[in-house]
Amino acid sequence: ILPSPLLDLLGVFVLLHVITSINDIKQRIKTQKENHSTIGFVPTMGALHEGHLGLIRQARKENDTVVVSIFVNPLQFGKNEDFKHYPRTFDNDCKLISQEGVDIVFKPDASEMYPDEFCTSVILEHLEDKLCGKSRPGHFRGVAVVVLKLLNLIKPDIAYFGQKDFQQTVVIKRLVSDLHVDVTIKVLPTIRDQDGLALSSRNAYLSETEKKDAPCLYMALTKARAMVNTGIKNTEEIVQEMGKIVSQCKSGMIDYISVVDPETLESVPKVRSGDVALLAVRIGKTRLIDNVILMLLMALSWFRLC
Ligand code: AMP
Repeated sequence: ILPSPLLDLLGVFVLLHVITSINDIKQRIKTQKENHSTIGFVPTMGALHEGHLGLIRQARKENDTVVVSIFVNPLQFGKNEDFKHYPRTFDNDCKLISQEGVDIVFKPDASEMYPDEFCTSVILEHLEDKLCGKSRPGHFRGVAVVVLKLLNLIKPDIAYFGQKDFQQTVVIKRLVSDLHVDVTIKVLPTIRDQDGLALSSRNAYLSETEKKDAPCLYMALTKARAMVNTGIKNTEEIVQEMGKIVSQCKSGMIDYISVVDPETLESVPKVRSGDVALLAVRIGKTRLIDNVILMLLMALSWFRLC
């Protein structure tokens, strides 16, 4: 008789179909397509939390087959970033995923995704060097390459992403549109802790004191929303007030605070409905990002009327 944790694990693996090779995932997807099964896809780097699970649940509702990828993509990490230390919790991820009725987990090795001869890059001019791209050069090229590879392999009908990584969603939508990738991209709202902190695998790095400071990102975004609600549209004023809130938290170091157009990511001088307030802040050594979509009150009342 096997000890029950091992049985649990075996059970999980049998039900889940963990696929690690490119050939196997291609074969499996081919079979699904032959069966006219619709495919929902959730790409992740693992260390799963309720934010990821929200995407998976939506995919489960809307598709016959759900594929989740778990791949900590070396290409999107800079030299001095946290690739080595990024949380890897595969056994727990499998437990969580299996409770959501996921059909396939794709978990390739880096050598499977990027063999020695690999040399292709995907450049998104005007989008990749703004906001997070300024302090993370090459990050969005890495994201674009891996997402395009995964979309080519999984061939999903719908792929699900979180609004928390707003710039990433803009890059991916642009990529899919520019290169005519046949997939629908769905972006779901950010899932937060009770104190407003956006869930993130990187929150695991925060010390107890830093955890208390971290909600300052959402507090600043809430201030931006409140200012817009009182009719303030001047983004300089809004950014300044947001900065004051973040500066009050001891361990916080602002990387950027900006209000931008949701497609071009260009800063806007005056808020229009649909513009996005974003910020990146280092809390201690941990770089956190967050954003909210701003709506002018008139547009909000119109939405409510509809
Ligand atoms: P990651 O594993 O961090 O690469 O994230 C995988 C997907 O989950 C991305 O589309 C993220 O935007 C999304 N995601 C991460 N955190 C959250 C969150 N708090 N709420 C909603 N989606 C999230």
